[in-house]
Amino acid sequence: MSEARIPVAVLGATGSVGQRFVQLLDGHPWFQVAEVVASERSAGKPYRDASEWRLGGPIPRDAADLTVRDYDDALESPVVFSALPGEVAGEIEQRMACQGRAVLSNTSTHRMEPDVPLLIPEVNPDHAAALELQRRNRSWSGFIVANPNCSAIHLVLALKPLADAFGIEALSVTTMQAVSGAGYPGVPSMDMIDNVVPYIGSEEEKMEEEAKKLLGGFDGVFRPAEFAMSAQCNRVPVRDGHIECVSLRFRQPAAPEEVIAAFETFRGKPQELDLPSAPKRPIIVRREPNRPQPNLDRDTERGMASVVGRVRPCPVLGTKFVVLGHNTIRGAAGASILNAELFKVEGLLPA
Ligand code: NAP
Repeated sequence: MSEARIPVAVLGATGSVGQRFVQLLDGHPWFQVAEVVASERSAGKPYRDASEWRLGGPIPRDAADLTVRDYDDALESPVVFSALPGEVAGEIEQRMACQGRAVLSNTSTHRMEPDVPLLIPEVNPDHAAALELQRRNRSWSGFIVANPNCSAIHLVLALKPLADAFGIEALSVTTMQAVSGAGYPGVPSMDMIDNVVPYIGSEEEKMEEEAKKLLGGFDGVFRPAEFAMSAQCNRVPVRDGHIECVSLRFRQPAAPEEVIAAFETFRGKPQELDLPSAPKRPIIVRREPNRPQPNLDRDTERGMASVVGRVRPCPVLGTKFVVLGHNTIRGAAGASILNAELFKVEGLLPA
């Protein structure tokens, strides 16, 4: 007989990331959406009406019939996936952790705190050890674990095998980020059609600081990785999928074929453990000269892989490539779900 699924709540369930959670958790072998929570605008309505479902395919039937809860309602679920706006996430997520729940957060609010693991299971699963410190510091029985910003996660997935094999001394990244990254309705269509907006508030700072935390160590305190980094972030009229053009200087020189081999052979804990949401290969290399493209490649490995292409010499820094990833799947909801799957296998989720 199969084990009962763990009831989970989705906070911000009506938004872009919240809907992705509901979609990805539909039929999940370990987790079942038991509670959907959103603002007072939605509370009390059936989820099917409150969400105005905006993803392809039908709204998952079990979630559709749930009544949207308010953040002040007493929740039952021991595991909480948070897709809250930063402005409100701090207090609500802390309250849930204090009540003994595992909070898996997409929000930037807690990512850089000195006792909050910012986790990508293929990159830094050892940072989960910071939960002990968090419990001691805050006297919580639950915890908060964060997943990175939607651009930082795909950049860092691509950087991890390169950092391990060659060391990274300096890097420059320019992003072209999809409109869904700004939530719904997000950037006004009049600002987006026939246009590129060369500014996304706080995005460049988030990419730079998160990449260093993720690629750094934890030995009781987080030790950020040491390399020079510059990010430039742009919003482009693409629906889903962020593209990033990366140039970097290694500590040990590497030929493009060696870089490609490092990408293609990279595997992490989710692959070893065969977690339900894990891509078979976290990085897929495309060798065609005009790939990856958002429209063609963002759903690779069900949106859970980073897709790399155009690996070639860079006359300034040595090596350059392009990486693409789905921003609301591996860049958000899928990342939190993978963290929860790792924690379940490691016995870190509350019963
Ligand atoms: P969104 O589409 O704007 O959705 C926001 C959600 O939060 C909705 O469910 C909304 O409920 C609820 N909400 C809004 N204002 C609230 C308030 N004052 N109090 C309580 N709930 C409120 O945003 P999103 O794109 O899903 O982003 C959610 C979080 O994930 C953000 O922190 C964002 O930075 C992060 N994130 C987003 C992406 C992405 O690609 N979109 C990627 C990574 C991380 P109502 O419908 O009831 O208003």
